[in-house]
Amino acid sequence: MKFVSTSDELWRFFQADAQSALAGPQTLADIRSYILASEGMSTTRCVLIGLDGLSHRHAERLFGAHKRVRLSPMLSTVPTTSSTAWTTIMTGAPPSRHGVYGAAQYMPAQKTSVFFFDTRLRAAGIVDRYDISPARETIISDWVQRGWDAHCLGFPAELDGNALIGLWTDQAQCRWLSGSPEERFSNPVKLAREVLEQAGELLESSHSFVFAYLNVDWYIHDHGVDVAVDQAVRESVEWAARFANRSGAKAFLISDHGMRHQPPSEHSLLTDEALLDLCRCPVGGGGRIIYVYPKGSQIDAARARLVAAVGADGIVMTRKEFIDAYHASPLLEPERIGELVVVSGDGRFPGAMPDSPFEHGGVSREEMLAFFAELV
Ligand SMILES: [Zn+2]
Repeated sequence: MKFVSTSDELWRFFQADAQSALAGPQTLADIRSYILASEGMSTTRCVLIGLDGLSHRHAERLFGAHKRVRLSPMLSTVPTTSSTAWTTIMTGAPPSRHGVYGAAQYMPAQKTSVFFFDTRLRAAGIVDRYDISPARETIISDWVQRGWDAHCLGFPAELDGNALIGLWTDQAQCRWLSGSPEERFSNPVKLAREVLEQAGELLESSHSFVFAYLNVDWYIHDHGVDVAVDQAVRESVEWAARFANRSGAKAFLISDHGMRHQPPSEHSLLTDEALLDLCRCPVGGGGRIIYVYPKGSQIDAARARLVAAVGADGIVMTRKEFIDAYHASPLLEPERIGELVVVSGDGRFPGAMPDSPFEHGGVSREEMLAFFAELV
């Protein structure tokens, strides 16, 4: 298989294929400034619906032809993992600047790797102590600073596996739904209906901004984009179209990354004891990209172990090769990324969720193309 460089191949795809994208945002980092600029003087209400994990391909199939929707593919981050991608969406900064290089990464000051999905980190104030993403200026604080009421809805982002979104949503009035993990992930239609009903009430007041976080990511991991996701997405778009029809109302839908089918693999590098024995801390990265932190004398042995573990289903790179391939500007604390990086190919992959039929984190087109939709 061929490993794409996002900065080259995917950009060419954009230029050739996505005429409508050229005037609007093209990467997740552009969304914040685009929303600010497009607001217009007469806007008094704004809603941003976040569909975590929905590929552009599915968005195009489900509502690409909707006459009220201007849909653009959006380049996600590398890795295409929620922590990295949402931090970029919220702050408008690329990963090289905000420094969140994965769901987990090595933190030089603490000399270990930190897993950002662990809500206990957040509860103990530990994520804040790690000084993740210096910029607290976000899509949400943009509205708060202007004196608008900013609200966040959905299941709590951090319970849905993203302690970092919780950092940004703290700046708003949050009305999180309650429910067990099974409830949270099992019924996308119910989730969308409940959240959008709440959003409708809050948006009755003028100068209100709502971030509606619809996490369908976990559902898609298990089921793919099935009829339930189809219906949740279609209803969300119809709701947004009705809302945007009101004077002074603005509606956007976005996703953070796509997802791809992967054949199951029983093995995971996260629990590979032979590998971990060669490393100074647990692995980092996100999904289908894994960062490995070998002890100084064990780099060659770790590389050999990785090559054996991934076979033809991935490529083992040095940190420098990885950064050169996927990041355009110098990185904040590049040592957060492992000395060795494993990037998935098209097949099975012993990453974070090796037995999930649908997974993300890698650099395939399906994973890399998120979407941005504006109701017009
Ligand atoms: Zn996500």
